[in-house]
Amino acid sequence: MTVIERFLKYVSFDTQSDESTEVTPSTPKQMVFAQYLKTELEALGLEEITLDEHGYLFATLPSNVEWEVPTIGFIAHMDTSPDMSGENVKPRIVEKYDGKDVPLCAEEGIVLSPKQFPELLDHVGEDLIVTDGHTLLGADDKAGIAEIIGAVAYLKAHPEIPHGRIRIGFNPDEEIGLGAHKFNVEQFGAKWAYTMDGGEVGELEFENFNAASAKVHVKGRNVHPGYAKNKMINSLLVANEYARLLPADETPATTEGYEGFFHLIGMEGEVEQTQLSYIIRDHDRQKFEERKQLMLSCAEQMNEKYGEAIVTVELKDQYYNMRQQVEPLMHIIDIAFAAMQEAGVEPKVKAIRGGTDGAQLSFKGLPCPNIFAGGLNFHGRYEFVPIPSIEKAMMVVVKIAQLTAKRYC
Ligand SMILES: [Zn+2]
Repeated sequence: MTVIERFLKYVSFDTQSDESTEVTPSTPKQMVFAQYLKTELEALGLEEITLDEHGYLFATLPSNVEWEVPTIGFIAHMDTSPDMSGENVKPRIVEKYDGKDVPLCAEEGIVLSPKQFPELLDHVGEDLIVTDGHTLLGADDKAGIAEIIGAVAYLKAHPEIPHGRIRIGFNPDEEIGLGAHKFNVEQFGAKWAYTMDGGEVGELEFENFNAASAKVHVKGRNVHPGYAKNKMINSLLVANEYARLLPADETPATTEGYEGFFHLIGMEGEVEQTQLSYIIRDHDRQKFEERKQLMLSCAEQMNEKYGEAIVTVELKDQYYNMRQQVEPLMHIIDIAFAAMQEAGVEPKVKAIRGGTDGAQLSFKGLPCPNIFAGGLNFHGRYEFVPIPSIEKAMMVVVKIAQLTAKRYC
């Protein structure tokens, strides 16, 4: 089986996850796919194959060298996004993409167009895998799974390529933020790993936001409006005043790159009481702490003005930037960088403006940067993946294995 045949087989499994079920895996169909993958890993002759009751599938490709090489891992997720159906996916190959509109469903006029998705133009001349316009494709992250299994099969077929012990891990429920949740890092037993779950060819990510949520409670005092002078405190107006104390140019709509923000995600209230919900994001830990402090000191400022404690702020940290976990092991980035170059890919290091499973794994003791899987327009009907991107990602996995072994020779 080629890596593309594997990919096309995998997307035939519906593995949509579901936020509401509160079990792992969140949907039994993910387990069906895991069981299928297990049979493929067995057929490949991998060792230490385990599939636990939560749908975490691990396996080992043993080292083929005499010397000590740290065990490294490659990880991808089996589920697809709850945002769009993944049932009955009908992938189609567009040969030698000509730079024009790609009709996905002619009857319904569903078109994949470079007008909306200019990144298509970076792939003119390549073969693309697209949907029929009615489901997502599932390249997020079945491309990652195909690349990892494809690489392992490649290493098996090329015993002359030196590599250490390789662990592979496939997890459920990444799309609902729970992929790392029940991931048994100790059992996985790798010194470090890579998630194959990024987008465009070349992406290499090892920084994400530090993240917190903040609930701002404002207590008002309601009095008959005709007799309210110097008595009424309208919590809606106080909340509005509070919101304006935060810097207006530090919101998601006014920031990019490494710029952090305060994001007001909800407000509800009446005269008596109002609640504002925020999320706070910053790549820099120091600035992140300062942002939380600012939210507290704005509350103090309001309380001083009104002469009583009417504003309270409840802060909760959500996740942290994996950079602090990866930095002591910077060679794992260097290896990925060099592997991409050897695979003919230009590395594009990018800070994630969000979180990843890899961040959670990094804080569970498995440093875990993220590498491109090649797909684009995730989570919707316009998802597509260029075939050369999958093939290159597979070779990046092979090269990482090889370069790691060489480094410790
Ligand atoms: Zn993904």
